[in-house]
Amino acid sequence: MHLGVSESMRECEYSQISTRSSTPMETPYKKRTPKKKKWESFPGRNKFYCDGRIMMAKQTGVFYLTLVLILVTCGLFFTFDCPYLALQLTPAIPVIGGALFLFVLGTLLRTSFSDPGVLPRATPDEAADLERQIDVANGSTGYRPPPRTKEVVINGQTVKLKYCFTCKIFRPPRASHCSLCDNCVERFDHHCPWVGNCVGRRNYRFFYMFILSLSFLTIFIFAFVITHIILRSHQSGFLSALKGSPASVLEVVVCFFSVWSIVGLSGFHTYLISSNQTTNEDIKGSWSSKRGKDNYNPYSYGNIFTNCFAALCGPLPPSLIDRRGFIQSDTPQLAPSTNGITMYGATQSQQSHMVSEIETERPPPPLSSSSRAASPSS
Ligand SMILES: [Zn+2]
Ligand SMILES: [Zn+2]
Repeated sequence: MHLGVSESMRECEYSQISTRSSTPMETPYKKRTPKKKKWESFPGRNKFYCDGRIMMAKQTGVFYLTLVLILVTCGLFFTFDCPYLALQLTPAIPVIGGALFLFVLGTLLRTSFSDPGVLPRATPDEAADLERQIDVANGSTGYRPPPRTKEVVINGQTVKLKYCFTCKIFRPPRASHCSLCDNCVERFDHHCPWVGNCVGRRNYRFFYMFILSLSFLTIFIFAFVITHIILRSHQSGFLSALKGSPASVLEVVVCFFSVWSIVGLSGFHTYLISSNQTTNEDIKGSWSSKRGKDNYNPYSYGNIFTNCFAALCGPLPPSLIDRRGFIQSDTPQLAPSTNGITMYGATQSQQSHMVSEIETERPPPPLSSSSRAASPSS
């Protein structure tokens, strides 16, 4: 591509804007600083544990409530109901209950502790490159046009890609920016405070398995605690049965009040999975027929079983944020572009990266970034 004089001036301006952003990893002249891992200066609002292996949202209070409710209810069930039920009925009850409990706990922790599919933010160079592309596409009038969207056609349906001003990327189809975690998440479903994480492309199936198995576990405990109370009341009367196992009363109350929402949620997500929709799309009514009869969901395979298979058994994409990788001390943090990511607009990352590095060698032009922002030049 041939750039005119004014274009190369713009390029200088862009690279100047980009390299002035004061991110902690841009310390080109300090070679001997101890190496930092990427999770330590992750731009989103997330918490990391175990040297970056565990990733959660910043607010995790409700997650601990979920954990306590499950642990306490199951603990009471296994301590006070299971010995009686195993003796009176069958030892299969604690075995099945235990297996369900382990499955619930496993899927919960897998949902809560993993990367939901966070899209890496554009590096300053990639952002500058994208700005330049946008300006070229809009005839470079100098004024920034307010709508920053791209349109792509997916299965005959036009889908708008919005530009994320925080992550400086065009969001891929179905991605959305979580305001709580401050990240763009692939196939964003919703932010779930109960699991203390976003639910997106990389943890949706575990979230679904969690709520589904939790429905079964809640119904299972509820049914067998009632059975326990009935069996005891046959022996010694209803009131003394309640007195004999006060824990059962607490379990019944917890299960009774939670089962409706859990089963309802499982049903809702079963519907979403079978039609290949996300909660986000359902709430916005993205594919609602109210928007016109040509408005159909382009992601649906047209078959309930294929949709379910795709959501639950399809290949799981790798994490794109490489949170345990080291920050290169002499270069800005680079998105792992080799992971098969399509950055929708923030392409040519390597190229622009090299170009800007050459440019930063030069003395900066007298135009400051603030004057560019103030005056719509060129
Ligand atoms: Zn974003
Ligand atoms: Zn979130």
